[in-house]
Amino acid sequence: MRVLVTGGAGFIGSNFVMYLLNKYQEYHVINVDALTYAGNLENLTSVEDNPRYTFSKVDITDTVAVQGLFEQGVDIVVNFAAESHVDRSISDPQIFLKTNVLGTQVLLDAAKAFGVSKFVQVSTDEVYGSLEETGLFTEETPLAPNSPYSASKAGGDFFVRAYHETYGMNVNITRCSNNYGPYQFPEKLIPLIIANALADRPLPVYGDGLNIRDWLYVEDHCSAIDLVMHQGVSGEVYNIGGNNERTNIHIVKTILQQLGKSESLIQYVKDRPGHDRRYGIDATKIMRDLGWKPAYHFETGIQETIRWYLDNQEWWKRIQTGDYQAYYEKQYAER
Ligand code: NAD
Repeated sequence: MRVLVTGGAGFIGSNFVMYLLNKYQEYHVINVDALTYAGNLENLTSVEDNPRYTFSKVDITDTVAVQGLFEQGVDIVVNFAAESHVDRSISDPQIFLKTNVLGTQVLLDAAKAFGVSKFVQVSTDEVYGSLEETGLFTEETPLAPNSPYSASKAGGDFFVRAYHETYGMNVNITRCSNNYGPYQFPEKLIPLIIANALADRPLPVYGDGLNIRDWLYVEDHCSAIDLVMHQGVSGEVYNIGGNNERTNIHIVKTILQQLGKSESLIQYVKDRPGHDRRYGIDATKIMRDLGWKPAYHFETGIQETIRWYLDNQEWWKRIQTGDYQAYYEKQYAER
């Protein structure tokens, strides 16, 4: 089995590449990544010499290069490649449209032309918009994206759906809640808070800190995608989430407590425009139909994550220089 994983140098993609290579001793994994600011081959040093692993630096919007990859033989595509940061989508939406919509369509075309047996689109609960205090997103919830990021993910999802309806392609879309765990780029909430707290830097928290996200440990996301890729019913959407709704401020305080740091580091900053209030996922379908169950409770997962960031400080400290530093200062300096 030859599995083409796009965005495999990013946070979830790199965890998934390692997961597949460990679990399936006969699979070949082709990692395709443009290595944007978010792509980091250091995530994959443990597998780089594995003969069943290959890496190609290719932009998924590059039709010719993508065709060239498929010519080498591909059975399954799992598409993680995306611009993924909501704040960046607010300041620079166009690259989100390009990668997340056009890139998905280029991959779909190649998958169709080369008769790939399954295409899995890794999407997000953010396409459903925002919830009030009650209720959960199901697969039937109408899409109502509010940020340029979620709009572009929804656009990609619609193309995936259309290639199933129009050309009969065997596709699945997964919509997962917020992930956390090893190798997450330190612009995202949990690694940002861990890194800043360790350095006794202020911890920027948007608005009143009461926005709610539903958190899932990255390995549980990988196990869910594994099931969908092998057993997902063609054309179906599967929500993925672990019933771990937490306010942002709760997350921040939990991390401070575990690191033995003071809450005086918390600094409330001007809210993100269009900031969705609450996400909550109903994952009954994947649990019932495919037998998926998350292995991690939030309290265990967050401990493991903090431990990983403590043990791998070189990894994130290297990222925190250069371009990232400039971005960080622009994002939080003017409040
Ligand atoms: P990430 O930003 O860490 O990684 C994205 C990867 O895609 C990077 O390695 C980057 O170099 C690559 N990439 C970007 N543009 C590309 C292009 N044009 N061609 C090829 N590669 C390109 O993102 P992540 O957090 O690992 O998310 C992966 C996927 O999962 C995304 O599609 C995202 O929408 C989805 N998702 C993420 C979360 C989450 O909480 N992080 C939750 C649900 C769904």
